[in-house]
Amino acid sequence: MSLVKRLGMRALPYGANYLDWADMTELKDAIDQGILFRYQTETESFATRLERHVSRRFEVRNSLGLHNCSEALRLAIISTSPRVGDLVFIPAVTFVAVAGAVLACGLIPVLVDVDENLSLDASLLPNEAERVIVAHMEGTIAPLPSGVRWVIEDAAQAMGGRFPTGEAVGTKGYAGVFSFHHAKVLTSGEGGLLITQDDEAWARMRKYHDHGSSRVPGAYPQWDADAYYGENLVTSEAIAAIQLQQFRHLDAVLTGLEQHYAFAVGEQPVRDGIRFIPRAAGDVKISVRYEFEDPEMRDKAVRALTAEDIPSWTLNKYFLPDHPVVRDRRSIYADGFPWNLAAGAGHVSADDFQTTRARLDRLLCLPLSPELPREEQAAAVSRFRRVIESV
Ligand SMILES: *Cc1c(COP(=O)(O)O)cnc(C)c1O
Repeated sequence: MSLVKRLGMRALPYGANYLDWADMTELKDAIDQGILFRYQTETESFATRLERHVSRRFEVRNSLGLHNCSEALRLAIISTSPRVGDLVFIPAVTFVAVAGAVLACGLIPVLVDVDENLSLDASLLPNEAERVIVAHMEGTIAPLPSGVRWVIEDAAQAMGGRFPTGEAVGTKGYAGVFSFHHAKVLTSGEGGLLITQDDEAWARMRKYHDHGSSRVPGAYPQWDADAYYGENLVTSEAIAAIQLQQFRHLDAVLTGLEQHYAFAVGEQPVRDGIRFIPRAAGDVKISVRYEFEDPEMRDKAVRALTAEDIPSWTLNKYFLPDHPVVRDRRSIYADGFPWNLAAGAGHVSADDFQTTRARLDRLLCLPLSPELPREEQAAAVSRFRRVIESV
């Protein structure tokens, strides 16, 4: 039995519930083959097998294993051949990795207000926006802006989600990126994945991720006449093997989340001042969201839940306008690069993020646990309901 199960932890990470030697055939085979470098294996590498699996599962032309999702974001951004100081529009509510990836490419993150689902409000984007990162936070599938040349979908928290039109999350933008960090839907501790329908973009990304080379497996990297510099972002066979194992459990995770969510739908709190926010059919149901009429009542609910040992979370930690790196334009470079190129770049908000902040202050999330037996899922939602109805 895995450590997570023994400790009785019931929120994320979901994939960690399946870490079990009895189910690690690929990892054992990877060790047995004695080669953990993907471009030196004698038969098809586990990394290639993983990418084929992902391409088939998500119906996407190209997929690339990477070390983490932050790196995948950086690779997606850099592959658009930007000029230093170019603007990249990002949601005002997301993990700071999004801003960090933009800055690490020498570009300027411009924060954009979010809508009532906490997704980037595409209707606010200026016409000249060329690069936009949309984040599908907590599995909520965000609408993509139209008419923007490069839309990158950050699906770090939304593995397995679908758009209302049926396409897999990550497949409708220029590129989609996923995370296998410990606290995501599937996990290999650290791990990232990039998918794209754009063959030319993929060729650029693949080169950049392997020192700018067009490597033939088994050979030393080769540099074309039109080569540019790159980095080493090549994934490892051991990690790819674990990710293949994790993918075997994705459907079980998604189904378990749907089931727990259905219990929550049937147990909506009956009380003035609290609203259950329904989720779309294609969302990955990481949590159930409740909107409180006022922040004090929300904070009281958090305290009451904590006192009863009932897990819950808020999303205030994702409010980027208050993050020191963005607010104070911090940089590790002595000259403040790339913020020193940001003259004139501001943010996109009607009211200096007051509405966005107010949304976060009134929101409370109940985490869902796909691996719990039905009775325990049902008991968890009624316990939660009882406490928030009583505050
Ligand atoms: C976790 C996360 C990332 C970064 O993923 P890593 O694999 O940890 O680098 C990026 N964006 C969002 C929205 C995330 O939640």
